[in-house]
Amino acid sequence: MPWRVGPAERAAGQRPDPYRIWLSEVMLQQTTVAAVRDYFVKFTTLWPTVRDLAAAEDAEVMGAWAGLGYYARARNLLKCARAVVADHGGAFPTSRDGLLTLPGIGPYTASAIAAIAYDEAATVVDGNVERVMARLHDVHTPLPAAKPELTALATEHTPVERAGDYAQSVMDLGATICTPRNPACGICPLRDPCAARIAGTAPDLPRKTPKKLKPTRHGIAYVVRRDDGAWLLETRPPKGLLGGMLGWPGSDWGDDPAPAPPLEADWTTLPAQALHTFTHFHLKLTVQTATVGPEATANRGQFVAQDQFQPADLPTVMRKVFDLTRQEPDLWG
Ligand code: SF4
Repeated sequence: MPWRVGPAERAAGQRPDPYRIWLSEVMLQQTTVAAVRDYFVKFTTLWPTVRDLAAAEDAEVMGAWAGLGYYARARNLLKCARAVVADHGGAFPTSRDGLLTLPGIGPYTASAIAAIAYDEAATVVDGNVERVMARLHDVHTPLPAAKPELTALATEHTPVERAGDYAQSVMDLGATICTPRNPACGICPLRDPCAARIAGTAPDLPRKTPKKLKPTRHGIAYVVRRDDGAWLLETRPPKGLLGGMLGWPGSDWGDDPAPAPPLEADWTTLPAQALHTFTHFHLKLTVQTATVGPEATANRGQFVAQDQFQPADLPTVMRKVFDLTRQEPDLWG
């Protein structure tokens, strides 16, 4: 993992950089290491320090984040970087309590940075640690009710010395050995004291309260292309889902949203819908397309010239809409 400082580098005196740990932890929330790796390299190449990131344009950062999902995190990332520069002279606070005062840094991220960068005995509890604790102590209370109990157990195990190495070890143990299915108990360093291994309950833990089914919302996305090749795009309002991201003008999303075309045109409805799943709902977007002349004016958004338009800057759901338009020969003629 490119944000880690290995034992040999540590022995040579290299300390983990809180900026890189913070960036990786924010990126890793709700996402896998494999999905984050390239984004992390891109961000640290474009913005090697928190000062560089704080000075970046919002649109540039949102564009670089596109595809990682959960876009509120990207907005918080910028807010936090700017607070570090404005209020802390460009250096992250060096304690968990100090880190918690920064925007977008919650208990988990504050503990991870404090433990890994500063070796503070802060307890880091993510899904991997919860699983290890539930099994090590054979806790049968279902999640999320079990969280306080599992956090208390994780706190008991957190050492005063080398808290950073411990935090990374227990997270890695959960990610690589004590995996959700088929835990590799035979090679686990905790196999002797592990209560769930002894009881034979490890694969069933942690128990989870069944999730509610996600509802499905519907919407309409309007893809307009001008004769000169320009696309009608809009930057979404800063608050709310996909806030601040580039997208196609569209209707509200709900059970039966009212049409909200951005201009008068002869609309074509594509046969396929764009399907996307957010944290709390599924979305089915009907895609309507139109081509317009040079005199067209829209009641929202703005035309972006073909050579200025980067589909990669679109969040995933908007890119799915764009990909569907390739079925529409009039738009690409
Ligand atoms: S012994 Fe098995 S269940 Fe227990 S912590 Fe190790 S891998 Fe997990």
